[in-house]
Amino acid sequence: MNAPRTYVYAFAEGGRDMAALLGGKGAGLAEMTRLGLPVPPGFTVTTEACKVYLATGEEPPELAVELARALAGLERAMGRDLGAPDDPLLVSVRSGARFSMPGMMETILDIGLNDASVHGLAKASGQERFAWDSYRRLVQMFGHTVMGVDGDLFQDAIAAHRAKRSVTVDQELDAAELAELTEEFKEIIRRETGEDFPQHPAEQLRRAIRAVFDSWNGERAHVYRHREHIPEDLGTAVNVQAMVFGNLGADSGTGVAFTRDPATGARGMYGDYLSDAQGEDVVAGVRDAVPLAELKRLDPRSYVELGDHLRTLEDHYRDLCDVEFTVERGRLWILQTRVGKRTAQAAFRIAHDLREEKTITADEALVRVDGAELTRLMFPRFDVRPTDAPLAHGVPASPGAAVGVVVFDPATARRRAAEGEDVVLVRRETTPDDLPGMIAAQAVLTSRGGKTSHAAVVARGMGKVCVCGAESLTVDVAAKRFTTDTGVVVREGDTVSVDGTAGTVHLGALPLTASEVGRALETGEATDELTAAVLDTLAHADAVRRLQVRANADTPEDAVRARALGAQGIGLCRTEHMFLGERRSLVEAMILARDDTARERALAALLPLQREDFTGILTAMDGLPVTIRLIDPPLHEFLPDRTELAVRLARTEHPDPHERELLDAVERTHEQNPMLGLRGVRLGLAVPGLMAMQVRAVAEAVVARLRDGGRPRAEIMIPLVGTVEELRLARAEAERVLAEVAAETGTALDCPIGTMIELPRAALTAGRIAEAADFFSFGTNDLTQTTWGLSRDDAEASFFPLYLDKGVFDVSPFETIDQEGVGKLVELAVQAARTVNPGLETGVCGEHGGDPASIHFFHRAGLDYVSCSPFRLPAARLEAARATL
Ligand code: ADP
Ligand code: MG
Ligand code: MG
Repeated sequence: MNAPRTYVYAFAEGGRDMAALLGGKGAGLAEMTRLGLPVPPGFTVTTEACKVYLATGEEPPELAVELARALAGLERAMGRDLGAPDDPLLVSVRSGARFSMPGMMETILDIGLNDASVHGLAKASGQERFAWDSYRRLVQMFGHTVMGVDGDLFQDAIAAHRAKRSVTVDQELDAAELAELTEEFKEIIRRETGEDFPQHPAEQLRRAIRAVFDSWNGERAHVYRHREHIPEDLGTAVNVQAMVFGNLGADSGTGVAFTRDPATGARGMYGDYLSDAQGEDVVAGVRDAVPLAELKRLDPRSYVELGDHLRTLEDHYRDLCDVEFTVERGRLWILQTRVGKRTAQAAFRIAHDLREEKTITADEALVRVDGAELTRLMFPRFDVRPTDAPLAHGVPASPGAAVGVVVFDPATARRRAAEGEDVVLVRRETTPDDLPGMIAAQAVLTSRGGKTSHAAVVARGMGKVCVCGAESLTVDVAAKRFTTDTGVVVREGDTVSVDGTAGTVHLGALPLTASEVGRALETGEATDELTAAVLDTLAHADAVRRLQVRANADTPEDAVRARALGAQGIGLCRTEHMFLGERRSLVEAMILARDDTARERALAALLPLQREDFTGILTAMDGLPVTIRLIDPPLHEFLPDRTELAVRLARTEHPDPHERELLDAVERTHEQNPMLGLRGVRLGLAVPGLMAMQVRAVAEAVVARLRDGGRPRAEIMIPLVGTVEELRLARAEAERVLAEVAAETGTALDCPIGTMIELPRAALTAGRIAEAADFFSFGTNDLTQTTWGLSRDDAEASFFPLYLDKGVFDVSPFETIDQEGVGKLVELAVQAARTVNPGLETGVCGEHGGDPASIHFFHRAGLDYVSCSPFRLPAARLEAARATL
């Protein structure tokens, strides 16, 4: 039997699909070797070897043998021996994990040099200075990386030499000085470690490999993996590769190149070049690199050859690639390749161009981009200069850039916005009372709360910029000012810039650039390559996806915008948002009503207003379904704050009788757990006439639209149902009113009645509930709260950070649906409902409807549609398509 070798592979033996074993760099080197690109020969020590070492503290015993064999093979191929005194073979020892972790781990160059072979290298190359430069690099890198000596000690020694010679760059130090410096470096190592720099090449190699293994557990690498969600147990591979030298004079150099521009996606090769330098110099920024075009002038042959190799790689990987290369005395070598990282903008352009060039299919182009990138492209952005230090950092809750004057209360926000000013609403945290102010504001800034705090959720829903939880700010609403931790005081009327993408706030107005992509998505007109790419991509996404996409919208303006952005209907129209502002007094009157007549009078006043709302929305969405949810939140949300009111009453000698009445009502409706209280269908059943008024408003709006020749498709949705009995009662009432209006107007009304599934009991008894429902809409926000038994608004601020840190969950279950728990309920409910009623339509509304990972889940669960805020529609369309691939 031919057991697979585990620990060492020559480049010629590996390939691109072996990244788990050989690391990304090793797999790339192997693939390029197979393609016949000029890669200095070498071999890869596998991640398996690293894992054994990390687990046991020792290299696996077989490694030494395999290494010796691989090294002998390399020496044969090169016709030179590692560290031989006459003409030495030198190697690099390079880290390279499965996922690219740029600069996070170690690489050591020029292994094999010692007091003897440095002379051999000098003779063989004919350049004494180069040989000593390489030796001092090795001693420095080895001393620091392998032997743990503080790198500054070496830097200081170099600086002292430069000062002595009054030169500014290392290039000007001659061979003798570099030899002297190397001795000093060795002395530093001896002093710091009590050990000599190892002269034996094999020992250098062994210890360098071990140091690369160890660098997997370095602090930098750990922090990077945590942020990028890279597993801790993968380990790194180690590449041992024959050295080539870019530091042999003006006809040598090193650089990086991309097959296309990774920032814009523009066609044509792109990169930087540094002549007479070794790879590390580019990264270290020792000297300024020049654009790749310079290489064309300096060394046209290498330039053309590089272009050929880039094309080969891009055709082969069928994607943007980047390479590290070195020119040694006019000869080009490729040292690394990978599929290159790119900006969101470049991702769309490149995917689109590759598709036009027929390198990839239209479906593949969809896989190359994602919803998060698309969303990023839709926001206006700041041109932030490095000198623009922010006043504070917070949670980047809702991306985008906004400039405005600071205000501290919703009334001022509305007033100043009405006067034509752009305002930024600053609060400690927001409540539903702030909503009018939030609507009026360009951005919302809070000092408390996380990504799913009220401010964050509402702002995201409106596509409004929001930074929340900027805890270094002290917000004093009463004094109308906030103070930063450095003592800067910002007062009402001062201008600030809020960067919801970065989560920062700046003093003054930073320059803004509008998003062409956002505009193009609304108008459907492309104005440049990028917008054309985005529109084409979405057109294909729409053709591919099965899941429909609706919008959450409560106003005709939102509905119009949603439609332009591709909404196929409204999945959630929240009627309570229509009860705010001036209408609040009418709602108050309804709550305060002592008898049926007073209540009926209040409801009658609300009826025409609601009817107008619905008519407007049905007009905007003509021909498309509009799911109208009956009133959901507990009544106390429409009343003033209990404490404030009580204090105000206690302070005045002649209290306003209306306020006294209000306080009574507030106390009457007060609940310990309003989230689990008198709300949703319970409210509809408990307050006589409320549901009937809302249904009548819908019905009359439908009739009005029909009379105007429209095609209204209203659907009535009952929230927070826990048992089919509730739905039967609510349905009977709704049907009664629909029949009434039909009779009064002589119009046939076809208005489906459905329910939200947002309680575990509803999901578990979905088969029963389906008997009385025409459709289901999963309210996954409440379903998550009630399944987990936690309150979103409180949990976010208290223990979520701890849970995320401890890995209890990777992402908040309010951001991405918890598939195992909440998702299971969704699946159960869909199956049960379809058994009873195969045609029953299912959708999801709420935050998860616009979240990419959740959308993929809803596709698999077989839902008919997702509904999300208008701004998230394009991303949702894209992700619904990607979910099918
Ligand atoms: P990183 O993963 O941090 O980029 P690398 O292993 O790619 O580290 O190496 C760092 C630098 O050293 C790169 O610029 C690379 O091109 C250069 N380098 C690595 N191996 C060799 C070699 N055998 N010959 C010449 N330069 C090399
Ligand atoms: Mg590299
Ligand atoms: Mg709900």
